[in-house]
Amino acid sequence: MTNASPTSARFASSVHRQRLARASKAASEQGLDALLITPSPDYAYLLGYRAPAMERLTCLVVPADGDASLVLPRLEEPLARHELGDLADDLEIIAWDETGDPIRLVQTLVGSPLRVAVQDQMWARFALRLRAALDPAEMVAAGHAMSALRAIKTPDEIDRLRSAASAADTAMLAITGERLSGRTEQEVSGRIRELLIDAGHDEAGFAIVASGPNSASPHHVADDRRIEAGDSIVLDIGGTVGGYASDTSRTAFVGEPPAEFAALFAVLVEAQRAACEAVRPGVPAASIDAVARDIISEAGYGDAFIHRTGHGIGMETHEDPYIVSSNPEPLVAGNAFSIEPGIYIPDTWGARIEDIVICTESGGERLNTTSTELNIVE
Ligand code: ZN
Ligand code: ZN
Ligand code: ZN
Repeated sequence: MTNASPTSARFASSVHRQRLARASKAASEQGLDALLITPSPDYAYLLGYRAPAMERLTCLVVPADGDASLVLPRLEEPLARHELGDLADDLEIIAWDETGDPIRLVQTLVGSPLRVAVQDQMWARFALRLRAALDPAEMVAAGHAMSALRAIKTPDEIDRLRSAASAADTAMLAITGERLSGRTEQEVSGRIRELLIDAGHDEAGFAIVASGPNSASPHHVADDRRIEAGDSIVLDIGGTVGGYASDTSRTAFVGEPPAEFAALFAVLVEAQRAACEAVRPGVPAASIDAVARDIISEAGYGDAFIHRTGHGIGMETHEDPYIVSSNPEPLVAGNAFSIEPGIYIPDTWGARIEDIVICTESGGERLNTTSTELNIVE
């Protein structure tokens, strides 16, 4: 399999034209004069490539009415034109020189707005200067408008998520087939990164290897601990394919697990399966969390499930919709998210099972297809 450039998140130009038009419409519907989008997943979603976020301002200006403009440093123009292809014809591209004033350029483009939205991850150095320049305009976060677009995936986007999930599954199958005892977490993590690329990811994003007592820490960073017999091992891995993320977790055990661990793990398998099966349009995200949490709580592990059940996934590993008790929003067809309950016993062990699930008209479709059962490894 060949890997594409990690900067590319490109579809046909018509797709990006449509996305720009929908962003403009969303701005108008939300009473915004313009969206100001700096390099970020929102930027890549709209324009199809990841631009570097840095001290020189790059800013896509999407007005509520009219065509988008792209303000960028002169030295970034060749990369932008290369990546944009014929999409560049749809944009007014305004390159500024090293001593130019890009804030003034953006200000000129938006005029005297009443209300503008800035990209959620825009650097404060730009957001604060824009706020001063556009005063007295009200300034809000663009996340709401953008996630309304991004949270419902098109079939083309689901295909990329499926490719990414399948590549992660290939890597997971490979690593759980290897001998893990005697190797450090860091060694295994490095090996997983190779496997993620070999399996077709454009880039390896993360490879959590949490063994023994470390497996009780959900976001443990692989360290120099040597894996040994009697360890539970949480493996949580992912990367990107064509700009879309994979994210899957499986749990392994070195040798036969004690009855206590097997009992805990059986509860987790059941909770994760039941939550996946509860997915369908109209079900509140909070209910999916409750399905997993109730099963785990009834078995007596409620206090050991210390995080939400899942997160949306797309161009970001974590995005809307969040599968959490505080999110009453109903799922809609096209939502893509993880279902990843975990049980963590401090200083002892932990376990997590994570699949990416698509909400379809007829229910949940798991993109990860490896067995969720405990992987017994050497
Ligand atoms: Zn996580
Ligand atoms: Zn996840
Ligand atoms: Zn994960």
